[in-house]
Amino acid sequence: MPALPDPIVRLIAALRHLPGVGPRSAERMALNLVQAPTEETTELAQAIREARERVRTCSVCGSLTEADPCAFCTDDRRDTSVICVVEQPVDIFSIEKSGTYRGRFHVLGGKIAPLDGVGPEDLSIAPLRARLADGRVHEVIIALGTDVEGEATSHYLSRHLAREGLRITRIAHGLPAGSGLEFADQLTLARALEGRREF
Ligand SMILES: [Zn+2]
Repeated sequence: MPALPDPIVRLIAALRHLPGVGPRSAERMALNLVQAPTEETTELAQAIREARERVRTCSVCGSLTEADPCAFCTDDRRDTSVICVVEQPVDIFSIEKSGTYRGRFHVLGGKIAPLDGVGPEDLSIAPLRARLADGRVHEVIIALGTDVEGEATSHYLSRHLAREGLRITRIAHGLPAGSGLEFADQLTLARALEGRREF
C-alpha cells in the first residue's frame, strides 16, 4: 500500500496532540477532513484561529475569557467573599453547570506532583495568597480532584493559606475516586459543594 501523502501524515500527527485522540481516530478525522467540503474545513480552521487569538487567561483568576478581567471576577452579583479553588479552567465550567455556586474562582493551573517535578511554586498559589491579603475573602473552597496529587495539594493549601477569619473548606467526597471535576455529573458536584467541610 502506498504511503499517505505528507500533508495527511502531518495532519494526523497534529490531531494526535488532542486529548483522547488515538492513532485510529486521528487517521479517521484527517481522512474525513481532506475529503470534506472546502467551506466546512475553512470554517473549522477559522474557528480554531479565532478562538486561539481571542481567548486569553484572566489575569486575576486564571479562567478562560475574551475580556480581562473575566466576567466571574467583574460580576457584582457574585459573592466576593468566597473563592473556589480549582485545578484547571475547565473545572470552572463544571462547577457553573452545577448551578449551586455564586462566588469567585481561582485556577491553580495544576497539582503538586513531585514525581513530575511540579512544586507549589509552579502553581498559581502566590497570586491566590495575594487575593486573600486584604481580608475581604471569608471562605476558600478547595475543589480539587480526589487523586493522590489532588489530596496532597488540598492539604498543602489548607496549611499555607490558614489565617484568622478565613474558613478553608473542601468539597465533600462523593466525587469519583481518583478523578477530576470534569468527569463529575452536575448533581454530584452540586452535592459535593453543598456538603463541603472544614479542614
Ligand atoms: Zn477572572
